[in-house]
Amino acid sequence: MPLTHRDSRHLTPGHTRPPPSDESVLDWRRLFQAPDPMQIDASAEGEMLVARMRTALILCLLPVPIINLLYDPNTAAGAVGLLTCLVGLVPALVVQRVLRRSAYHPWLGLATSLLDVSVVSLGHAAFLVLGQPMTTVNNRLMFDVYFLAIGATALRYDARITLAAGSLAMWEYLGLVLYATSRFDLTNPALDPHHYGAFDWATQASRIVLLGAATLLAAVLVNRGQRLRGQSRVDRLTGLPNRTFFEERVEAELSRARRQHEPVVVAMLDIDHFKRHNDRWGHPAGDVALREVARTILAGIRQSDTVVRYGGEEFVALFIGLNSAAALERAEAIREAVGALALPIPRRRDTTGVTISIGLAAYGPDGTQAEELIEQADARLFQAKEAGRNRVVGPPPEAVGREPAGPPDSPPDRMRGSPGRVM
Ligand code: GH3
Ligand code: MG
Ligand code: MG
Repeated sequence: MPLTHRDSRHLTPGHTRPPPSDESVLDWRRLFQAPDPMQIDASAEGEMLVARMRTALILCLLPVPIINLLYDPNTAAGAVGLLTCLVGLVPALVVQRVLRRSAYHPWLGLATSLLDVSVVSLGHAAFLVLGQPMTTVNNRLMFDVYFLAIGATALRYDARITLAAGSLAMWEYLGLVLYATSRFDLTNPALDPHHYGAFDWATQASRIVLLGAATLLAAVLVNRGQRLRGQSRVDRLTGLPNRTFFEERVEAELSRARRQHEPVVVAMLDIDHFKRHNDRWGHPAGDVALREVARTILAGIRQSDTVVRYGGEEFVALFIGLNSAAALERAEAIREAVGALALPIPRRRDTTGVTISIGLAAYGPDGTQAEELIEQADARLFQAKEAGRNRVVGPPPEAVGREPAGPPDSPPDRMRGSPGRVM
C-alpha cells in the first residue's frame, strides 16, 4: 500500500517539529485516525491471528453442543451452540482464505469485528426465539464472549474498528434486553429453567457499562500502541522519521515504484565538517544546524518524495518519479539552499553556515534492492567528499537512459506552498 502524506502525518507532526511531549493516556485525535502503512501490516497479521484463534476456539467448542445434542436431542442449548459455531466458522475460514490471496484492508477488519460481536448477539437472540429470555438476559458465559470479541478488535490496531465493534455490542445487547422485556414477563419463574436469578435493570445497565469500559480500554491500548510506535520511528531533534522507519518502508516504496514503472533515486546527504562545526560553535549550534538542514531538505522535496534522518548528520531522501538528471537538479537546489542558510549561534548574536555533500544512486542502473542503492549513494557521497565537499555526485550520464521514464518533473511542494512528504 502506498505511503501518502496523509498516512505519515502522525509520525512527523508538522514535519519539522519534534513529536509532542504530551504523555496523556489518550490522544483523542489519533483515536479516529486511519492507520499508517506499518499499522496496516500489523493489522493484517492481527486479522490472520484472530481468524486462526476464531477457528481454533470454534473447533474446541464444537464438541460441546454436539455432545449435548447426542445426549438430549431436545436441548435448546445444543442446537443454539451448534448454530453459533457454524455461523462463526464459515467467515473464519473465508477470512483466512482472503488474507492468503489478497492484501488486508481496514474494511475487512471492520467487517470481521462487527461480525464477531454480532455472532455473540445472535447466540443471545437464539434463546429469545427458543422462548428462554432469562438465558438471553442473565447468562454469564455467553455474555463474557462479548469481551473476547471486543478484546480481539485491538489486534487490528485501528481504534476506529474497536470503537465501532464495541458500540455495536452495546446497542445489540440493549436491543436484545429491550425486546426480551417487551415480549416476555421476565418475573415468570417458568421462563428461568436454569435459575439464572431475577431480572433487574441495574444488572443490565451494569452489563452495558462494562461493555463500554472494555471497548474504551481496548481503544486506549490501540491508541497507546500507535503512539509508542510512532514515537519510536521519529527523530526527536529534527522531527523527521528515523532510520528504523526507513528500513521498514523502503522496500515497499521501491516495489510500488517498480509496479508503477516510476524511476526512483536514492540520495544520501551529509553535512560537511560537522565535527569541526560542533567543536567551534558548540553542540547546541550543531543541533540548530541539524534542524535547519532537515527543514531545508524537506522544503526542497515534493510530496511524493521521502526523507529521513538516517544517522548523526546524515539524511537519506527517496526521489520518487524522478530520473537521475531531474534528481541531480533537485539535489543541487537543496545543496545550494543549505549553503545559503544563516544559522543562528545560541547565546551569540552571530550566525554561521554549513554545506552538504550528496551522493545519488538510481533505481535500475545502480541496483534494485534498497541495500545496493544505499551502498551506491554512500560511495558517491564519499566521492563528493573526496572531491572537496559541498557538491553532488550522481550516476554517470549513460545510466540515465536505462531508467524508467516516469512522469514529467514538478516543483517541490513547499515551493507551491504545501508541505513535503516524509517517509
Ligand atoms: P565529513 O565532512 O567528512 O562528513 O566530516 P564530519 O565532521 O561531518 O564527519 P564526522 O563523521 O567526523 O562527524 C560527524 C559529527 O556529527 C560528529 C558528531 O559529534 C556530530 N553529531 C552527530 N549527531 C549529532 C547531534 O545530534 N547533534 C550534534 N550537535 N552533533 C551531532
Ligand atoms: Mg559529515
Ligand atoms: Mg557522516
